Amino acid sequence: MSKKEILSLIQQYSTIIIHRHVRPDPDAYGSQGGLGEMIKQSFPDKKVLLAGEEDSSLTFLNTLDHIDDDTYDDALVIVCDTANEARVCDQRYTKGKALVKIDHHPNLDPYGDVMWVDTEASSTSEMIYELFLAGKEEGFQLNEKAARLIYAGIVGDTGRFLFPSTTEKTFRYASELVAYEFDRPELYRHLYNTEHHIAHLKGYILQNFSVSKSGLSTVKITKTIMDQYGIQPDETSQLVGVLGDIEGIVTWAFFIEEEDLIRVRLRSKGPVINDIAAKYNGGGHPLASGASVSNWEEVEPIIEDLETVCKQYQLEQNK
Ligand code: AMP
Repeated sequence: MSKKEILSLIQQYSTIIIHRHVRPDPDAYGSQGGLGEMIKQSFPDKKVLLAGEEDSSLTFLNTLDHIDDDTYDDALVIVCDTANEARVCDQRYTKGKALVKIDHHPNLDPYGDVMWVDTEASSTSEMIYELFLAGKEEGFQLNEKAARLIYAGIVGDTGRFLFPSTTEKTFRYASELVAYEFDRPELYRHLYNTEHHIAHLKGYILQNFSVSKSGLSTVKITKTIMDQYGIQPDETSQLVGVLGDIEGIVTWAFFIEEEDLIRVRLRSKGPVINDIAAKYNGGGHPLASGASVSNWEEVEPIIEDLETVCKQYQLEQNK
């Protein structure tokens, strides 16, 4: 139902502004840009604008638009891949005539006149492809640029089709998307190119990690370490997956010291960790979530909570 409502709103409005979350990732750029390209291709006369701050690490995917405040007056605003209102990049998203939320995170903060939330979807980009399929008979079209963006979003959020969120549907959509002519090797090079300083810090993490008896590994990246390796806080997203394949690590947490907070990145292969993230000003998916705390003392209770769920999980597994 909401897919049809969204398609009908897109048909009605001549100005459509698309937002996504702060600290974007390929799925944020992919869903926002993929949707934008799909609308432009289907309705060349509509004004379609992409909101938010540029992220230099993702400009290979797309670039964003400058939007005057007045443009919002008659616009339909669609927010992609953003669970809660505080994380919408460019807070003018409420200034339009109608607001739509399209997302795949747990819907803890429902917002918008129309909402389409599918926590089973591997990515919001996958949902954008599904939206296209739902509108195909009514004339909605995709082009190479849209396919490339949507594909990049799916690849990014599924860890190259590795995470359990990857379903038969994900593969089907991916196979349809690669039928469009875009340069996949070039896309992968951009997505997975690792700069030397990041590779060196990955090496440091791999040399120094430890694992608790219950399968928890925690990594603290202090400002001193970041300075030593010349790492910027927003680059740390590239480090988190490094512990994913290590024997015995079931759940892992990165604590990254930023200017005035400690960023927490949580990952799991079993125990549900997004309740813990939510307890500490965060949220996300059951097996991939994030939070933030003010100082290193506040990190300790998070580690304790993680130990508790890991132990419970271990007990259940050994039953
Ligand atoms: P990250 O570690 O930044 O890749 O985040 C993993 C997942 O957790 C993403 O789906 C984010 O949407 C979610 N997440 C990260 N930080 C927060 C936060 N502060 N509040 C809510 N969700 C978050």
